[in-house]
Amino acid sequence: MNDEPRTGRDLIERAPAAAAVLAGARAAGLALDGVWLVGGAVRDAVMARAAAGRDVDLAVEGAGVAFAHLLAGALGGEVIAEHLFGTATVLVDLGAELGLVHVDVATTRTETYAAPGALPTVTLDATIEQDLARRDISINAIAVSAKPDADGSHRIVDPFDGLGDIERRLVRVLHPGSFVDDPTRIVRVARYSGRLGLPVDPETRQWAVDAVAAGALQTISSDRMRAELELVLREAAWDSLTLLAAWGMLDQLDPRLEESFRLPFLIMRIDEVCGDDAQLHDRVWRMRLAALVRPLGADREGWLRWLGFPGDVIADVESHARLLDYVFEHGVALAQVANSDLYLDLGEVEDDSFAVAAIATDDEQVVARLDAYRTAIRGTRLTVRGEDVMAAGVPAGPRVGRILGTLFLQALDGELPDEAAERAELARLAEDGAA
Ligand code: ATP
Repeated sequence: MNDEPRTGRDLIERAPAAAAVLAGARAAGLALDGVWLVGGAVRDAVMARAAAGRDVDLAVEGAGVAFAHLLAGALGGEVIAEHLFGTATVLVDLGAELGLVHVDVATTRTETYAAPGALPTVTLDATIEQDLARRDISINAIAVSAKPDADGSHRIVDPFDGLGDIERRLVRVLHPGSFVDDPTRIVRVARYSGRLGLPVDPETRQWAVDAVAAGALQTISSDRMRAELELVLREAAWDSLTLLAAWGMLDQLDPRLEESFRLPFLIMRIDEVCGDDAQLHDRVWRMRLAALVRPLGADREGWLRWLGFPGDVIADVESHARLLDYVFEHGVALAQVANSDLYLDLGEVEDDSFAVAAIATDDEQVVARLDAYRTAIRGTRLTVRGEDVMAAGVPAGPRVGRILGTLFLQALDGELPDEAAERAELARLAEDGAA
């Protein structure tokens, strides 16, 4: 990946948050025997990828949770979570440049799978080598000793040749049964390949295809599947989803999803336009989800519920997908549709739905039309109210609402430029028994 020497010390130095955590621990006199820096921080350091906001993963041979408490004390942080199986999370403030960082501390363990797709049976008291053997891919299974040897070097443990795979540019699982043990790794592999731009090793690829064909996805809960899918969609997702489609996974989830890989390649365009803008992350993934599930039509909502997406996500996705359907259905003819008709067809539309629709169409007239509609529904407020309608002689009842609705549609189309025009039209409608 680069020509610099890769000693353990180099790697720690290239992982600023990890370096600060370990320096703080050393300064406080914490014993770091059996403490290892693992996971994404090491991988990104080897690849010289600047990963802003990167959390730190530590593996501890022995009592991980006790170490987490000592670490929190040493760094003035706090243990914000203690989980089952000897893991804990420490939140520390590393100052202006690095900010708040999560340090995930895990006791080294071995994991065995009693049944495919089930959560693993965990045995603590493992060596770092055993702990690395339970991991997903070789480039995530590299450890660097937190404690320097006598000569000041930090030992690198890399039993699966993750360093070599980074050099060879490959994403590779550790053994043939990896995907059967934990099918969420199929999605993880696609995600890392897409994110890091590393091709998937041909054998790993074949194992993924075989696992999908053998029904491995049916062995995991919808909750776990949803969580992994969301992680994919929170990044530029086109490449990863293309892999998942090629491996047959999307077809198994629902064959209609494949349609989202037809022109205009909407997910790819969302990636291009919105890229890795962290500010947008919480919203852009919902746009990608809408683009992915749009072909499910009337089944969309039920499908999202079945996977366990929360109501606010489903509402956003529905809003986006409905507008996309409309844009694709009407094409350039949409440019001629009046605001009032758009309102009758679409009702209120979220800003992000307009944004994704603008990404979906090439036609400037359509974009301009949608923009004008957006301005109209955001800016149109009637001056007259229900009491004005009744004061004009309409008895309380549904006709009051109908008249206000008619006035609103006319205002949307720019036919009622001021209050006087509204009142004149109100008087006409109140007199016209048909309204
Ligand atoms: P990133 O956060 O950049 O996606 P990461 O490597 O920090 O990468 P996490 O999801 O935080 O990823 O997981 C931490 C480590 O735990 C991974 O590097 C991997 O070694 C291991 N891991 C996570 N999920 C799995 C899994 N399903 N199977 C095996 N190992 C896993």
